[in-house]
Amino acid sequence: MTTMIDVLVIGAGFAGLRALHGCREMGLSTSVVEAGDGIGGVWYYNQYPGARCDVESFDYSYRFSPELEQEWRWSERYATQPEILKYINHVADRFDLRRDVYLNTRVVRAEYDDGAMRWIVDCEDGRQWNAGRLILAMGQLSAPKQTTYPGQETFAGRIIYSAQWPKDKIDFTGKRVAIIGTGSSGVQMTPVIARQAAQLTVFQRTANYSIPAANAPVSDAEDRMVKTDYRARREAARNSPSGLGFVPDPRSAIDVSAEEREAAYSAAWNRLGFGFALTFRDILLNQQSNDTASDFIRRRIAEQVEDPVIRDLLTPRDFPFGTRRPSVDSGYFATFNRPNVKLVDISTAPITAFTPDGIQTRDAEYPFDIIIYATGFDAFTGSLLKPDIIGRDGVQLRDKWSAGPISFLGLAVQSFPNMFIIVGPGSPSLLSNVLLSSEEQIDWLTALFEHCRQNAIGEVEASAEAEQDWVEHVNARAQETLYVKTPSYYMGAEMPGKPQVFMPYSGGVRGYRRILEKTAASGYEGFTLNKRAVQGVP
Ligand SMILES: Cc1cc2nc3c(=O)[nH]c(=O)nc-3n(C[C@H](O)[C@H](O)[C@H](O)COP(=O)(O)OP(=O)(O)OC[C@H]3O[C@@H](n4cnc5c(N)ncnc54)[C@H](O)[C@@H]3O)c2cc1C
Repeated sequence: MTTMIDVLVIGAGFAGLRALHGCREMGLSTSVVEAGDGIGGVWYYNQYPGARCDVESFDYSYRFSPELEQEWRWSERYATQPEILKYINHVADRFDLRRDVYLNTRVVRAEYDDGAMRWIVDCEDGRQWNAGRLILAMGQLSAPKQTTYPGQETFAGRIIYSAQWPKDKIDFTGKRVAIIGTGSSGVQMTPVIARQAAQLTVFQRTANYSIPAANAPVSDAEDRMVKTDYRARREAARNSPSGLGFVPDPRSAIDVSAEEREAAYSAAWNRLGFGFALTFRDILLNQQSNDTASDFIRRRIAEQVEDPVIRDLLTPRDFPFGTRRPSVDSGYFATFNRPNVKLVDISTAPITAFTPDGIQTRDAEYPFDIIIYATGFDAFTGSLLKPDIIGRDGVQLRDKWSAGPISFLGLAVQSFPNMFIIVGPGSPSLLSNVLLSSEEQIDWLTALFEHCRQNAIGEVEASAEAEQDWVEHVNARAQETLYVKTPSYYMGAEMPGKPQVFMPYSGGVRGYRRILEKTAASGYEGFTLNKRAVQGVP
């Protein structure tokens, strides 16, 4: 059966649901197809203990409805995963979104029909959609790495992937637990599991920088204060470099005295979370400046860890602060002072296999009841490149992106007309408050759809020149930063064989928005707008 529709959205996370609402408000018939059996995207899948946002909830929430803003009450500054999922479900109910969301519906193929200017989209269960516009809201961190080790099937205990956390309640009481990986998920779950398990062993390949979340309950006074002036807060976030509302000190970290610098870092520490990276304007641009921030964090880590050997292992040294996504933690480092917590360095003695009893490294065997993989994601492109996405003249997105993602504004790809990517590579994406960035793009996109409606435009396609210019611009901006010095998921280094190119746009949320605005004001320069008549979208 084929369903004819104006807009098909793939993915029912924050972005997909917001796209559904935006398109529906315009009167476009819109459906969302979602592979999982629940809405919420990463917040549905990552139900591990300790999961929470690392952008403050007042900012990591939808801005499109002032009424929603006023009625929702966050209980903590950084909400937990259950609270965020409850919020997403509340939004779905409040705006009656569920009736257009198809769960357990994985897209396996999408092909552009050039003559009709429409996308034919096939799902795993045999259903087909025929859509005038296709919105890919498939997530940046929705394709977990399926790490495996030899002998894994022989392990007698339980193996859990943090990004596919099981629905049954896991009781760690009395258990010997392993966590493999010390990225954000590992950092968040370590203190929580350590409090429950008989014994916790964390396997670390790379020590990372982490900043205290300074999480706290939201008081009634704070709630009232934010809600009294929410619009101003949202505008500040939109006009800040990363969508957090903080604007950096305009000076270089090395242009101030050592005392002043120390005082600035101390004031930001324990207060700003990610905003610490914005204490001075050039922390992510200038190595010397970055050294001062990195050194400050190393000293704060040293204060938290008692054992000198563990302290040394937990101290990041090989890359500039922020060039791998830093964590925002709630007592991570101090957890290693507990008698039931161990750290194993797998950079020098790698894991070689799983055994029936546990994990074998080059140097020792460790027995466990539960092993948790917190090994991260095939970021930015993982989910986008799984289905066959076939554009004009049979061009496959996978082939077009074989040397790295190419797009105009991160939003559109030449040869793939009427297809739009939300918070994908080439946009601020994971360098920003992702929710804010997705709303910026969706608002811009619905304005483009309105422009098309008013001008009888059936087909929108990025031009080859605009795409080329944008890729060069993204790369040029990246070269101004320290990000390119470190192998990280920003650089495609998290997966063997992935093209090593800088994935997100580092020009900032405000800079990016201005480019979007300029593009719209110019009548969508950089896009070919084709007036041929089209069914569905008038
Ligand atoms: C644990 C965790 C914490 C995070 N915390 C923050 C934070 O504090 N601040 C921040 O800015 N960002 C954070 N992020 C990044 C996060 O990815 C974004 O903030 C945001 O939630 C992404 O929403 P999305 O809708 O774009 O994608 P997702 O939430 O990833 O949703 C994409 C959906 O698309 C579906 N999908 C994919 N492929 C297909 C297909 N072929 N067919 C059908 N459906 C498909 C997936 O099943 C998924 O449900 C976090 C990520 C994780 C994993």
